[in-house]
Amino acid sequence: MNALPSVATASFDPDVVRRQFPILDQEIHGRPLLYLDNAASTQKPVQVIDAISGYYRRDHSNVHRGAHALADRATAAFEKARMDVAAFLGGAKREEIIFTRGSTEGINLVANAWGRTHLGPGDEILLTAMEHHANIVPWQLVARFTGAVIRVAPVTETGELDLDAWKALLSERTRVAAMVHVSNTLGTVNPVAEMVACAHAAGAVALVDGAQAVNHFAVDVRAMNADFYVFSGHKLFGPTGIGVLYGREALLEAMPPWQGGGEMIERVSFEAGTTFTTLPWKFEAGTPHIAGVIGLGAAVKWLQGIDRDAAAVHEQGLLERVDAALAGMNDIRRIGTAPGRVAVASFLLAGAHPTDVGMLLDQQGIAVRAGHHCTMPLMERLGIPGTVRASFSVYNTIEEVDRFLEGLDKVRSFL
Ligand code: PLP
Repeated sequence: MNALPSVATASFDPDVVRRQFPILDQEIHGRPLLYLDNAASTQKPVQVIDAISGYYRRDHSNVHRGAHALADRATAAFEKARMDVAAFLGGAKREEIIFTRGSTEGINLVANAWGRTHLGPGDEILLTAMEHHANIVPWQLVARFTGAVIRVAPVTETGELDLDAWKALLSERTRVAAMVHVSNTLGTVNPVAEMVACAHAAGAVALVDGAQAVNHFAVDVRAMNADFYVFSGHKLFGPTGIGVLYGREALLEAMPPWQGGGEMIERVSFEAGTTFTTLPWKFEAGTPHIAGVIGLGAAVKWLQGIDRDAAAVHEQGLLERVDAALAGMNDIRRIGTAPGRVAVASFLLAGAHPTDVGMLLDQQGIAVRAGHHCTMPLMERLGIPGTVRASFSVYNTIEEVDRFLEGLDKVRSFL
């Protein structure tokens, strides 16, 4: 294999970044861990691990309602993380950042709180065929409840959204268009700003599922003009069990709460009924995942501390290397070849089930994902049972790409 020029730049050195991720320094089945399952979940830098541990060691208390020093400290750290996330999304307002358990919960919140009050029989929900189940099933549930109808825009053979077909499905009946920013299975980046503009022109609101976008490039929700944008902390170098729903303030203001309980009320009375508190806490019932929020805050600060453009160039270098190699192999069928996609390589190896390929790679210490990747309708559309997916992140190296390709060669020898 030809040597590639070094991808290290003055401000982004993948080796320096890599050393900040302690989990990567271990052996699996006697071989150094090669982690290529980043679309499922990214690993955590020491800054995130330390922020969580430091919080539990020094500052833990419940937030918002305590009258003592620890409660003040925990609340300050929690609300600072909210402001850090707001800045990370391009300057959203504090009121617009709702902490959730993840992308899934964010979409369920919108489908329930917005959907049940705005959708009725015959109203349409426009989706794409490349959605993750998290952006399908909540809409199916609300459609069943309200009588709304789901429309699905097709995907081309190369794994791109058929934008003309999507536009043709927009009509005055469309109330909401929900779309994935970056496909977890294909790596395709959808033209979400254009799609949001079209949805608005049709009188619909637009929800963007950013679970696979925020870790690859900077996202500005204002420039995109999305009404709702969701992502998960664990795919962004942060903890599991925490995520974010960005919502346009006026929309959130007009929505009823979704879950009820402590923290989200102003006054509770059996006689007079309950009134709700202001944004963003109106949508945060119960004790929140405080450590998760603090860890997420540390993750976005960590990301902002690296040169993201250089990191994206590095990831693209990895993708080019793997793409060039896989494209030259006769027994490989690549799934998802859209131009401009993020560093995700989905493929099938002739004569082998994706799960077997995944297992044989694992025996060599190489972690990939095999299966339908929670995109069963997409698999059905492409007529395949699943794929092997190698997904790359900032800490992966060119040497690892080569080791992955050697690992694939070895898999062949077992078949
Ligand atoms: N949307 C996309 C595109 C995803 O890839 C995922 C997770 O894989 C989700 C939504 C759901 O994320 P979570 O399970 O963190 O809620």
